[in-house]
Amino acid sequence: MDFTGVLEQARAIGDQIVDWRRDIHQHPELGFQENRTARLVADTLRSFGMEVATGVGRTGVVGILGEGKPVIGIRADMDALPLQEINDVSYASQTPGVMHACGHDAHTAMLLGAARVLSQMPDRPEGEIRFFFQPCEEAEDDEGKSGATRMIEDGALDGVDHVIGLHVASDLPAGQIVIEDGYTTANVDTFYATINGKGCHGAHPHRGVDPIFILAQVINALHGIRARRLNPIRPAVISIGSVHSGNASNVIPDDVQLTGTIRSFDDATREQLHREIEAVFGLTRALGGDYALRIVKGCPSVYNDPQVAEVVRGAVIEMLGEDVIYRLEPGMGGEDFSYMARKAPGAMFLLGAKRDQVERPHHSPQFDLNESVFPLGTALLTETALRLLRGE
Ligand SMILES: [Zn+2]
Ligand SMILES: [Zn+2]
Repeated sequence: MDFTGVLEQARAIGDQIVDWRRDIHQHPELGFQENRTARLVADTLRSFGMEVATGVGRTGVVGILGEGKPVIGIRADMDALPLQEINDVSYASQTPGVMHACGHDAHTAMLLGAARVLSQMPDRPEGEIRFFFQPCEEAEDDEGKSGATRMIEDGALDGVDHVIGLHVASDLPAGQIVIEDGYTTANVDTFYATINGKGCHGAHPHRGVDPIFILAQVINALHGIRARRLNPIRPAVISIGSVHSGNASNVIPDDVQLTGTIRSFDDATREQLHREIEAVFGLTRALGGDYALRIVKGCPSVYNDPQVAEVVRGAVIEMLGEDVIYRLEPGMGGEDFSYMARKAPGAMFLLGAKRDQVERPHHSPQFDLNESVFPLGTALLTETALRLLRGE
C-alpha cells in the first residue's frame, strides 16, 4: 500500500469520521467522566476486530493491533470543557454547560478513523500499534493527575517505542500542518503565596507592617527574574494572575494572597525559576513581614523528538506537498501529551481547521472546526504509524 492509498481510504470514510465527531460533540463529557465516549470508542474498536482494554487510566480506552516490535502509540484525548456552547448547529452540545471546545471530539473521531484504516490493511508491517483514547487532558483529578499520567500509571505506555498525536487548531488555515522539532509547549507550574504583614490604621503605617507595600516590591522582583536572572535565550514567563487583600481604604490589612503561573521549556530553567521565586519572597522578611509559598508542578513541556518529527514531516510532504507545512513558533501553552512523549520519544503535530471567517478560539463558546480536514488527520496518523513500524 502506498501513501496515496492511505489518503484515499481516509477520504472514503470522511463521512463516518464526521458522524463520530458529531455524536461525541453532542454528548460531551468532562475529564474522567468520559463513560459514554469510552463506550462508543470501545464498541467501535471491537467492531474492527481489535483487542480492547477499558478503564485504563480510569476512563481511558486502549485498542491493540498487531504484535511484536516496534510498538507505536497513537494518542487522542476525549474530554470536554465546562462551557455553554452558543453555536447554532445541528450537532451542538446537548449537555448544558459542557462543550467540546478544544476539538478533542475530533481527535477521538480521527483516531477511530485511523484504527479503521489500519485494522483493515492486509499488508500492514510487523509490530504493534496501540491506540490511546485518553481521558482528562484539560484538568487534573483530586490527586493532581491528568489523564496521560493515569494511563501511564496503568502501564499503557509500557514497551512503547514511539508515540504520536495531533491537535486541531481552529485559528490556523484549514489543511495546514505544523510540525516543529523540539519544545512546542511549556512546563506549566503554579504558585500560591501569602505575604504576611501586620494590620493597623492607615493613618499610622509605622505601627504595623504593610503587606501591600511589600507586595509592590515582590511584584517588581518577580518580574525581574525573567529580565535579570535568566539566560536571555531560555524561554520563560511568570504571570501573576490574582492578588487579593484588604477591605477598607483606611485600614492596612494583615496579609495579601497572590497566585501566578510559571512557564518554561527546559527542566533546568524550570528548577531555576522555582528557586528564584522562593528567593524573591525572602524580600518579605527583609521588610519586616513573612510569607508562605507553595509551587505546584503541572504538566511538563512537550518535546518533539526531531527524528519522529522528521517522519511526520516526511509523511505530510509526500502525501500533501510542501505547501501545507505551516511554520509556527512554539508557544507557552500546556498539553499533557508531554507525559507520554517523555516515556517514549514522540511528536505532536497541529492540524489547521479554521471553519470560517468568525473567530472561534479554543476554549470559547463559539469554538468549531472545519470538518473537511478530518481525513487529513486520519491519513497522517495512519501513514506516520506505518513509517514508524517500518523503522523509517
Ligand atoms: Zn484545550
Ligand atoms: Zn486540547
